[in-house]
Amino acid sequence: MATLAIPQNTIAVLQKYNFNFQKKYGQNFLIDPRVLDKIICAAGIVKEDFVLEIGPGIGTMTQYLCEHAGSVAAVEIDRNLIPILEDTLSAYDNVEIIQQDILKMDIGCFVQERNQGKPIKVVANLPYYITTPIIMGLFESHVPLESITVMVQKEVAERMQVGPGTKDYGALSLAVQYYAEPEIVANVPPNCFMPRPKVGSAVIRLTRHREAPVRVADERQMFAIIRASFNQRRKTLVNGLNNAPDIARSKEELVLALEKMNLPANVRGETLSLEQFAKLSDLLQ
Ligand code: SAM
Repeated sequence: MATLAIPQNTIAVLQKYNFNFQKKYGQNFLIDPRVLDKIICAAGIVKEDFVLEIGPGIGTMTQYLCEHAGSVAAVEIDRNLIPILEDTLSAYDNVEIIQQDILKMDIGCFVQERNQGKPIKVVANLPYYITTPIIMGLFESHVPLESITVMVQKEVAERMQVGPGTKDYGALSLAVQYYAEPEIVANVPPNCFMPRPKVGSAVIRLTRHREAPVRVADERQMFAIIRASFNQRRKTLVNGLNNAPDIARSKEELVLALEKMNLPANVRGETLSLEQFAKLSDLLQ
């Protein structure tokens, strides 16, 4: 099968199978070989790698992954794409096609079975409607990971990279930076996809930290505090946390903890660094 990463070959496959795009699954297929080269290169795919691809579509990126990786597992929710993938990937014996909703899959267990629990690389042109749950699910369930290299909406990629004091800084930035080192490796315009998305896209690589950049006694509590502070962005940190049912601390306790950190009682969550959230969480233990 010829490479799918040029528009006429993608169109030929879509016509052969009379395929209709499903908007609800965020289907925007890549048609630019330069973008695919950049993704493979940024992910540093080599023959020793076990790669999990989320949402292979008709197999455009999967073909590239099969050429470079040792093994590829491609998880696709849309049943109509499975016969197409079996056709477009028939030349490769190092790929497993799995029809599944990635959000319902026990990826930790899967990695244990297929790669003896050794760290994998995740590479994907993600369905944008579930970018955050996919990425957070991978990190929070402690799947053994080396890196995640994904195409996401440009604004979301920027949100993952920014620090305190910027308007895009939020719970996603802190969570991603706690688990990994983010780096935007390419900006990708809508004309690289079929059909064209309404938004700009970017490829971001998240390299898993070997050790978390901050120490915190209770990771869950820290993330509950982070979520509560950004849920009510306009409120001061004290009011945001005092209103959050899963924090359950009085205003006095919260102000005291902030005082110990030399922070004013009216400080807002968006100015705190990851280190400061970790310290606050420990003080509220
Ligand atoms: N990788 C292909 C490419 O680059 O051309 C397709 C990318 S497209 C943006 C996203 C793909 O994810 C679609 O094939 C869609 O059907 C699939 N998808 C959407 N939701 C999914 C889910 N919950 N689990 C697995 N795959 C999903």
